[in-house]
Amino acid sequence: MKITAVRGFRDILPEESAVWHRLDTQARASLAAYGFSEIILPILEKTQLFSRAIGETTDIVEKEMYTFPDRDESSLTLRPEGTASVIRAYIEHSLAHQEPVSKLFYIGPMFRRERPQKGRYRQFHQIGAEILGRDDPLIDAELLLMLQDLFTALRLEVAIEVNSLGDAVCRPLYRESLRAFGESRLAELCENCHARLHRNPLRLLDCKEPGCRQVTADAPVLTAFLCGPCRDHFAQVQAYLRQENVAFTLNPRLVRGLDYYCRTAFEVFAQGLGSQNSVCGGGRYDGLVAELGGPAVPGIGFAIGVERLVMLLQAAQEHNLLATPDLFIVPLGQAAESQAFSIAHRLRQGGYRVELESGNRGLKAQMRRADKLGARYVLILGETELAAGKGTVRDMQAKQDRPTAIDLALPAQVMIDAIRNLNSQPLAEKD
Ligand code: ATP
Ligand code: MG
Repeated sequence: MKITAVRGFRDILPEESAVWHRLDTQARASLAAYGFSEIILPILEKTQLFSRAIGETTDIVEKEMYTFPDRDESSLTLRPEGTASVIRAYIEHSLAHQEPVSKLFYIGPMFRRERPQKGRYRQFHQIGAEILGRDDPLIDAELLLMLQDLFTALRLEVAIEVNSLGDAVCRPLYRESLRAFGESRLAELCENCHARLHRNPLRLLDCKEPGCRQVTADAPVLTAFLCGPCRDHFAQVQAYLRQENVAFTLNPRLVRGLDYYCRTAFEVFAQGLGSQNSVCGGGRYDGLVAELGGPAVPGIGFAIGVERLVMLLQAAQEHNLLATPDLFIVPLGQAAESQAFSIAHRLRQGGYRVELESGNRGLKAQMRRADKLGARYVLILGETELAAGKGTVRDMQAKQDRPTAIDLALPAQVMIDAIRNLNSQPLAEKD
């Protein structure tokens, strides 16, 4: 009989492991820039840790864990996620007494007995990070900003969705209102949701059954129930995200699978993965450290699904997207070339791929080159326009020209966003 790998457990062959390595290297670099250090944790924990940290009524604890008895009959579990272990270690080694804030990240395999399918395995890997000891909105925004930096550096287009789950003051009110709503539409909900309604009504919003989704579209939203402090906290998180041009959308239906989340919750989605399109999830969990027997220290974190990101990176590589410039700059003449040189430098420092040509070449020749390289946007800098502080952006896909003011002092990301956003704006009146 041929022996094969266990269903849902994969081998990572060299072609794929090279891409893993790229992801790993970039993640470590982005995490380091924000002051995270690595914690290396055991793969096996006492089962109790997960039932307490994740919650008895979650899918993970109820039906997805690999649990088995040790020689002494005590119950052990292959870790299904990393946060519980990080907090266990944080408490066990009294890290709270050593430093007021701990920023920790981990990389490694997780185990969940799920139905294997594309992008969903029984052993999969996560890159996760936790910040313990800060509950101010700035740190929530910082964590999301780091994620955006990472995805930008990986050249992956993602959608970040954000919500606030409230706290112990306001969430109970919402939970009751959602339960009452569910009761009133009981007949339309699936079996699973009937159970959820009693144990954990918030999970109604998480149900993937089309029928339930239709019902919950009319459900009350948590945002309307937030208490003053939660509302202020959430508003400040959003203000900081906007300040740094983080593209996010509010999703009042976003809830997290784990019980302990409060306030800021978020999920990152990517296209091209089919229905397994969530590449990162996370949020704030202020009560969890105390719940596990530690000091009353607030926390926030995320976990990225490595396999799903690797799939995206492989697809991008196949289409040679990695060599495609974000922006091709076409300087016309010597003075324009010198300006283009500075703009390109700053954008490249910001992690963007920028190509530019010699200002001595004509417009046509340069545009041909931009087209050949597959650049989506071209920034044309003519000497007369430049004197007026202007350039022209051509969207190569839409085949449209849009005059734009070029502010040389703009940070790289703001400039790139401005160029991309020109697209969604109506064409300016001809002047
Ligand atoms: P999903 O809704 O896809 O089941 P989840 O809410 O269970 O995700 P989390 O527990 O928040 O996921 O884990 C964070 C990330 O880990 C997910 O966004 C996903 O990218 C990845 N992930 C979770 N479960 C699996 C799995 N079985 N196989 C591969 N990746 C996974
Ligand atoms: Mg899941």
